[in-house]
Amino acid sequence: MGNKKQKAKPKKSQHQKQVPQKQVEQTAPQALTPEIGAALFEDARSRLVDVFKALDIHPDAQARLMQPSLSLQVSIPVRMDDGSLKAFPAWRVQYDTSLGPAKGGIRFHPDVNQHEVTTLSFWMAVKCAVVGLPYGGGKGGVQVDAKSLSSLERERLARGYIRAIADIMGPDRDIPAPDVNTDATVMGWMIDEYEHIVRAQAPAAITGKPLPLGGSPGRVAATGRGALKVLDLWAEREERKPEETTIAVQGFGNAAYYFARLASERGYRVVAVSDSSGAIYNADGLDIEKAKEDKTKHGKLSDSKTGKPLKSEELLALEVDVLALAALENQIHCDNVDEVKAGAILEIANGPLTSDADQSLAQRDVPILPDVLANTGGVIVSYFEWLQNRAGERWSEAEVNERLDMLLGEEASKVLKRAETDDVTYRQAAYRQGIERIAEAIMARGNCQDCR
Ligand code: NAD
Repeated sequence: MGNKKQKAKPKKSQHQKQVPQKQVEQTAPQALTPEIGAALFEDARSRLVDVFKALDIHPDAQARLMQPSLSLQVSIPVRMDDGSLKAFPAWRVQYDTSLGPAKGGIRFHPDVNQHEVTTLSFWMAVKCAVVGLPYGGGKGGVQVDAKSLSSLERERLARGYIRAIADIMGPDRDIPAPDVNTDATVMGWMIDEYEHIVRAQAPAAITGKPLPLGGSPGRVAATGRGALKVLDLWAEREERKPEETTIAVQGFGNAAYYFARLASERGYRVVAVSDSSGAIYNADGLDIEKAKEDKTKHGKLSDSKTGKPLKSEELLALEVDVLALAALENQIHCDNVDEVKAGAILEIANGPLTSDADQSLAQRDVPILPDVLANTGGVIVSYFEWLQNRAGERWSEAEVNERLDMLLGEEASKVLKRAETDDVTYRQAAYRQGIERIAEAIMARGNCQDCR
């Protein structure tokens, strides 16, 4: 049975045979260090080993893909409002640039470390290749509690970060964008700093900018819109109608809110959403706009009267057709995976399942629409922003949405079809599509002993 039948709650199938088991761990390379962050990277690299084995990737490409191309650690000195000076550790990692310049966000978070940034840059490389963008993977991070900074301190930090990485970035080298705790405002400060350094207008050097500085219409809703497109394609293959499909959404931030809103507009029954304060549930479907209004008014989703209050963890155990994970990494793990009763998982966040949870769900034949496909809407519209900036054009929101729909529709369909023909999970199919493309670019660049 192929993936055409990766239906919600299917019977046991041959597809189980294809789930990578212990052999992947045995052949995975040694951890770089014993730190937890390193384990995340090792986990990510074990997926590469799986693809290398399945596709007979040339050893030269394998060697190149096992490590980032460039990893820069810097210290950002920031003059604080009280006159003191603090120095924040920060990183920028480029993970293979064979397909094009590195592309990926910058996050401000107290837990940021080199391994996390490296893993995120690896996922960006895979993601861009899965949807056929001419980019490599990039990611940046500053180890800081951004919420403890004043707006002026944040601006000094953002400008300091760009001064520190200016030599390795640029429209043809590495193009940053927003990520956790950075937004269009921060990108506005960053592009201003970069343009001062290079003494030129260079809007294509950063995406996710404010509209007056060359930001793209449609960028803010793009990740949610893209996730809905992937869900729609899957539902269509499963002959599942939106109005017959219930969805619980973990998260109510940028990606989750737009996904929930657009999904309920399309006719799906979004029965639960959550934020860090708790969850709300309504079996008939939530009024997402009202929930958003309530959250804006009270600061907490759990105070909204549009649904019955639930604990955040109860949302993960709801009997729904689709559980959309759109909050954080590692939300479903070995301790709670057995509680999950959803018929399918839509990964909108990056890495919301640990690899053991992923295996456990795959063994139960729960289809998983993976992050490297389901959350690509944001980077696709960032690519459109870069194209507009380079061509000096301004596209309408309708044009951006239409192009997103076409590009993602085409690439996601290839992944779903490949899962069926190769009889593998959607995640394996997406990794195969992405890694194959990167490996082809590596080999096309030459310097190979035995491929002339
Ligand atoms: P965000 O900060 O806007 O939202 C995060 C949401 O998660 C918030 O509503 C927060 O309350 C909620 N949350 C935190 N802890 C929770 C918990 N324990 N239970 C339930 N909810 C919890 O972030 P975002 O931009 O929406 O990103 C969410 C995820 O999607 C991240 O993994 C991010 O890397 C990924 N992603 C986002 C984009 C994008 O364009 N925004 C693109 C690709 C991937």
